[in-house]
Amino acid sequence: MSATITCLGGFGGKGAAAILIETDGKRLLLDAGGALHPGETLTWAQYLDEHALDLDAVLISHDHIDHIGGVDKLAPSVPIYCTPLVAKALPPGRVWHALPERGRCQVAGVTVTTGQAGHSLGGVWLHLAVAGGIFYSGDACFESRVYPFDSPPPARLALLDASYGAYDTPQRDCLTAIETHLKHPLALPVPASGRALEMALWLGEEADRRCLGLAIAPVIRAHLATLLTLPETLRRPGVTPAIEALLAHPDAPHPSLYLFDDHDDTAAMWPRHRLLHTGYLTPARCAELAAGQIFLQRWNVHLRASHLVALADDLGADVVVPLFTSLDEPNTSVWRHLLGRRFTAQRTLSLPHSHRPSLTSWSMA
Ligand SMILES: [Zn+2]
Repeated sequence: MSATITCLGGFGGKGAAAILIETDGKRLLLDAGGALHPGETLTWAQYLDEHALDLDAVLISHDHIDHIGGVDKLAPSVPIYCTPLVAKALPPGRVWHALPERGRCQVAGVTVTTGQAGHSLGGVWLHLAVAGGIFYSGDACFESRVYPFDSPPPARLALLDASYGAYDTPQRDCLTAIETHLKHPLALPVPASGRALEMALWLGEEADRRCLGLAIAPVIRAHLATLLTLPETLRRPGVTPAIEALLAHPDAPHPSLYLFDDHDDTAAMWPRHRLLHTGYLTPARCAELAAGQIFLQRWNVHLRASHLVALADDLGADVVVPLFTSLDEPNTSVWRHLLGRRFTAQRTLSLPHSHRPSLTSWSMA
């Protein structure tokens, strides 16, 4: 089967993810992202409306707002596919169909393979067995301490999480940098289903080592408990005892370290703590950072540059689209250097039918 791929959202910068795949008379949307900050227009939803494009299925990679937050823009009759844990973030009452956490299924006549993306609780990458294979990473990371990353089947086209651009600092260096903040009382706002879980483990160990009081938001503790209910193979090997030990440890009565789910907290809300962000900053928070009111030290949760290239190699991709990152110069030249002739900055791509096998030589871990 041939396919036409249009990156309606998440192309050319960080924003609401939405990838339209048209193949064999069917229309599938990969992710239905919502606005990351107030005032952001969901251009992907406008495009579908203006062109009166009906969808046969929507597949959601994970439950972060820029991937799932636009589901309410879809007609209620559009079938939604996601893993059971991700479904908890759908609008109440929304009907959905289950994607496997790691496996294969049919969606609108297309063979879809999923695997662990290493980024969030219940999150998966998606592989469509059309036109020689289309791989969409969603948000992905090789470096998580709790979430595994599954090696995907071969794919001719790779749509990859390039949120970090050419950044390539190893996670161990990020941890060393965060350590320097631990001598101050710290408040760390995080997405509760993402890096929160591995940060909780690390902070628990650092708090013990330094005799610091730690408090972890109930929703993060609940997600850690949920992770323990999943099959062992959906966690990194050896992490189970660390999670059990952390959950057995109650919150300190007067904590100097707080890990909590991000609800647009500002520095003014934490007068006794240093507010340390570890991920994407909205424009409003960039202004706070510039004013010296908050601090920023990345905790890796996306593919860094060398890992993105390794994934493209592993897929055997002929064409690679870096998503969620600027494709203006000099970035375009950087990607061309990193990916060679595989790199493309085209929003719309047409892939002819291919006899190249995208599944036959691959088996699930
Ligand atoms: Zn994410």
